Amino acid sequence: MLRIILFGAPGAGKGTISGILEKKYNYKKISTGDLIRDEVRSNSIIGEKVRSVIDKGELVSDDIIIEIVKKRITSEYISEGYIMDGFPRTIIQAKELSKMVADREVAIYLKVEDEKVIINRLLSRVICNNCGAIFNAKNKPPKKEGICDICGGILEKRTDDNEGAIRERLRVYREITEPIINYYEDKGVLNRVDASISVREVLKKIGEILN
Ligand code: AMP
Repeated sequence: MLRIILFGAPGAGKGTISGILEKKYNYKKISTGDLIRDEVRSNSIIGEKVRSVIDKGELVSDDIIIEIVKKRITSEYISEGYIMDGFPRTIIQAKELSKMVADREVAIYLKVEDEKVIINRLLSRVICNNCGAIFNAKNKPPKKEGICDICGGILEKRTDDNEGAIRERLRVYREITEPIINYYEDKGVLNRVDASISVREVLKKIGEILN
């Protein structure tokens, strides 16, 4: 069972790329952002606890996130492999993930240097409230405005895709998350991919890495 870790700043393309890889390779995508937004949407106890944390662009506590991930990573749920999107974000999470089941591990760092590219991507991003597909009003508009091409669901902006929360998410990323690149570099599993180019090019590079 293969574990792919997609790593990178908010807006680097983790969600888009993991969605495509999931279908192409029959791997399970585990997006902690999607899972935590489901909790918020269903007004669960966890959801109520983390709603304002997410809206401010801060990190949800390690305990809550690790618990959610542990429930997903089971051999019954996963056969071929799984793709981590948005986890780990702290060194504690990275160490916990290393203890979870996998035969082989590949970390892919989607690198975008220019913060302006990131901010523009996030400000024009819309997401399907039904299937989670990601569109972008500028780079990848849906065929019909406000409607998902794939399932016909309603496209919405994320509550944390505003300039204030984006700046905080970037600060948290640089300060807390980015340093764990070294952890994967030391493990000898890190691959860097320039993610400021087109999705097609990024997928081609990732295909080469996985082969
Ligand atoms: P994302 O969809 O990956 O951008 O995540 C959206 C928000 O969910 C983040 O800004 C955090 O508030 C929370 N979140 C997602 N994954 C994690 C994680 N691994 N650790 C802590 N908070 C997380």
